[in-house]
Amino acid sequence: QFVRRPLIAGNWKMNMDHMQGIALVQKLAWTLDDAGHDYERVQVSVFPPFTDLRGVQTLVTGDKLSLDYGAQDLSEHDSGAYTGDISGQFLSRLGCSQVLIGHSERREVHGEDDALLNRKIRAALRHDLAPVLCVGEGLEVRQAGDHVSHTLAQLDGALEGLTADDLGELVVAYEPVWAIGTGEVAGPEDAQEMAAAVRAHLAERYSAEFADGVRILYGGSVKAKNVASILAGTDVDGALVGGASLEAEEFANIVSFEK
Ligand code: PEP
Repeated sequence: QFVRRPLIAGNWKMNMDHMQGIALVQKLAWTLDDAGHDYERVQVSVFPPFTDLRGVQTLVTGDKLSLDYGAQDLSEHDSGAYTGDISGQFLSRLGCSQVLIGHSERREVHGEDDALLNRKIRAALRHDLAPVLCVGEGLEVRQAGDHVSHTLAQLDGALEGLTADDLGELVVAYEPVWAIGTGEVAGPEDAQEMAAAVRAHLAERYSAEFADGVRILYGGSVKAKNVASILAGTDVDGALVGGASLEAEEFANIVSFEK
């Protein structure tokens, strides 16, 4: 038995319209069923664009699929004059159980900083959405050898003022920015090094008990062919998958890894 239930999460980014999204989830569910996938053993989540969520909800609830789904972002606010933003309350009502927060593309393209991410985590928690907090260094930081301190500082910034009780089902996704969508994969030792550092840091910040329960994912060019070696690290509890989550069979093969 696993101490922590592994999680394989698919971040579709801005791909798949609502029709394509339904087709992808359907195909993924069939493929996993055919493979006899045990969702209790390995949790599977998809993170489609906002406009796909209603369709995904209808499919998942109608067909009683055991897939989880969530959004790629949320507003720090619950409602009001925030044109174009999406509230955690809406996501929760659509059956989302998780939400990505602080993906490097949000940090880079939308200038999201730690203080904003902290408010977004609080918004997620207000609506029973488990935050999947993305952290990770860029290439220059890695080359300077500062990747661990950089990533732990991102973690501290985003978790500022939050207690272990507040954080509930927090998931941390370590995604070295230089490995996202580039085909460059951090080595299994790099993924384990950071996952262990994150866990030790959470133990120091909160407690060993809390840290032991937090799932830490690796993300960055994960494919079926490299997933097993990456997840071999004892502190690596799953993967956040971008490009390879857009193909049902490839993603199903990633889900079927043997830890
Ligand atoms: C991501 O976007 O979270 C990601 C890891 O992308 P990719 O798998 O395509 O590198």
